[in-house]
Amino acid sequence: MSSNGEELYSGVKPRYKKVIKCSFCGTPSTQAYKIFKGEGEVYVCDVCIHNSYRALEIEHKTSTMNSVGKLPKPKEIHDFLDQYVVGQKIPKKSLSVAVYNHYKRIFSNKSLEKKDDVEIEKSNILLVGPTGSGKTLLAKTLARMLDVPFAIADATTLTEAGYVGDDVENVLFRLIQNAAGGNFDPESKNIDKIIARAELGIVYIDEIDKISRKSENVSITRDVSGEGVQQALLKIIEGTEAAVPSQGGRKHPQQKNLMIDTTNILFIVGGAFVGLEDIIKNRLDRKEVGFKTASSKKQTKPEEILKNAIPHDFIKYGLIPELVGRLPVISVLSDLNDEELKKILTDPKNAIIKQYQKLMDLERVELNFTEEAIDEIVSRTKERKTGARGLRAVMEEVMLDIMYEIPSMKEISRCTIDRDVVTQGCEPKIA
Ligand code: ADP
Repeated sequence: MSSNGEELYSGVKPRYKKVIKCSFCGTPSTQAYKIFKGEGEVYVCDVCIHNSYRALEIEHKTSTMNSVGKLPKPKEIHDFLDQYVVGQKIPKKSLSVAVYNHYKRIFSNKSLEKKDDVEIEKSNILLVGPTGSGKTLLAKTLARMLDVPFAIADATTLTEAGYVGDDVENVLFRLIQNAAGGNFDPESKNIDKIIARAELGIVYIDEIDKISRKSENVSITRDVSGEGVQQALLKIIEGTEAAVPSQGGRKHPQQKNLMIDTTNILFIVGGAFVGLEDIIKNRLDRKEVGFKTASSKKQTKPEEILKNAIPHDFIKYGLIPELVGRLPVISVLSDLNDEELKKILTDPKNAIIKQYQKLMDLERVELNFTEEAIDEIVSRTKERKTGARGLRAVMEEVMLDIMYEIPSMKEISRCTIDRDVVTQGCEPKIA
């Protein structure tokens, strides 16, 4: 930093008659935590160094992906998803294409401005699939791959302005916070850059099916129908200049607002849509009066039926037509089978078993699981009916005592978890 490495601390009596000040912000050395001296009479304080670092970081992140050339191809996106998400072959493919087209559209619209009148419309995505099948994971992994800001919201906690709950704009606040990376300061000099970065982000809205019009979730303080929330979501999904309270929380007349354009934010909404298959079945059956069955009887698995979903089915389910119209890409995730649950435990880059092995490795203990132990963990998880979400909870139960005891044990180099450890809580094999 300083050519001679000299640091001048606050409180230190200045060696010069004139007061030393930061050459950038003018803070005197007596008020700064630290001031560094550069060539000649140039000084910089710790706050200016910190701010410049943050500015560089945001600059770097903004330039990571700002042209079609830097955009990963659908195949590359798919391969990245493959490292973290098990199964869900078709959703992975359709998401890779949709996301690639989304960003290509943004960068092309920028460079083609006014050259022709064809404007490609935004393709927000609707993910249908049971709980714990990887909907959130897919959205999160996409954001990570593209290095764009990401925010998650649960539709059931969102309300129309005026009701108890979270304003829809709060989702955008979280996106801005994420774009800033770490502690967000609305007064930051980089706020325009932070918002520009957030405007290229991805928002995942979970449990969209729970705010359908016929919602049974009756409450006097919440917007009962869900329709108001859908309308509010629609506004930000289709693209608007949204006013977001700069401190988060509810809107407040005296509060300063940050303006964010949501036109290029990619919205992925997800839900389990329990019962949707009946709506589809009815429609298919009606169409096939006379020769009912051949195809509909064969389609016994719910996900097979769900694959036939058309926008109208979601409207019948209770989503407002305008919202469905803004979600042109529909992708159906399947329930994970035993084989896939096993893979989730062992295969992905940050697989749960790999994480435990790493923890044990830090204790210099090699941790192994027998095939039967893994089968048992999977079968216990299935009983919970929460998809892969239950895997971690089951693992935590199995591993609690072991993680408690091992750090205090001496001369142990290997620990093997077999079926009895999982089923009866027996001691693991120690060597
Ligand atoms: P949901 O479909 O309910 O959004 P999530 O994506 O939140 O499910 O999954 C919960 C957890 O289960 C994830 O954090 C991840 O660890 C695991 N998981 C779910 N599906 C998969 C999958 N297909 N591949 C790998 N892990 C998965």
